[in-house]
Amino acid sequence: MRDKRIKLIYFSLQGSESREFILSWKVLIGSFFLLFGLVLLLVGSSISVFTDYYHNFRIETLAETNAGLRTQLHELGKVANELQVRVAHFERENDELGIFADHPPMDSDTRQVGVGGSASAEIKDSLLPHDLQRVTNEYRSMLETTSRKLNLVESEKSALLTAIEDRQISLDHQPSIFPVTGRITDDFGYRIDPFTKSKKHHKGLDIAQKRGTPVKATAAGTVVYAKSKYKQNSGFGRVVKIDHGNGFITIFGHLDEIYVKKGQKVERHQAIGTVGSTGRSTGPHLHYEVKKRGVNLNPNDFIIAE
Ligand SMILES: [Zn+2]
Repeated sequence: MRDKRIKLIYFSLQGSESREFILSWKVLIGSFFLLFGLVLLLVGSSISVFTDYYHNFRIETLAETNAGLRTQLHELGKVANELQVRVAHFERENDELGIFADHPPMDSDTRQVGVGGSASAEIKDSLLPHDLQRVTNEYRSMLETTSRKLNLVESEKSALLTAIEDRQISLDHQPSIFPVTGRITDDFGYRIDPFTKSKKHHKGLDIAQKRGTPVKATAAGTVVYAKSKYKQNSGFGRVVKIDHGNGFITIFGHLDEIYVKKGQKVERHQAIGTVGSTGRSTGPHLHYEVKKRGVNLNPNDFIIAE
């Protein structure tokens, strides 16, 4: 059997000193494993220390991120609240526009149509903590509601503006002033005809005024008739008829001069001629009629402003 021992000789370079170590293989291998074990232990504990440090670092970073996200969520909530307030303001504005549009205000039930029902949009199985999830859902629902309300309020506003415009156009085209100021010598309705002395329906207003006084269009419209030629002591003499749309027509009789011609567009207050006594007339006055769809109406009912 071979000798399983090895000899290690140590020489010092400074002197002639030398030492000898005699080691058995068992000791050598044992030492090697001991050293290897120590190295493993050192590496292992280093990794553990580093991992702990890394985890702590991650936790701190996440905590900071978490706090930052909570702050931002809170800010978003404030913005959502402000938006809600602004939409409510737009709703009130529409209510006011509704007055001008002669539109009843939209009731709150109608405004709630399509609002809500956002629970389905909640994130299921969310990893968020319960309180954050609740707040997030609340803000989400708030923003969705606001967005829908905003759509509704926008379409409502555009409809109201169109209605106001239509109403303005229709008001512009509705007789609303005296064509000339003066004494009313014959009112609308039944009267005794000055020529035949018989009872007759007077289809308009007779307003006495000096010859040459301007006669104004009582609403916007288009001249559909402007007759300069006339027979004395017959009919309304020089006549102008204006079509205002919506079935409204006004007639101006016994004019002295005519300033407009057929097809011409006129505005309210625009002079269309002057007071005269042409036709079947006993003195300078304006004969003024208001017709709607062919029916004579009382012109006094169409005086809103001077
Ligand atoms: Zn008359």
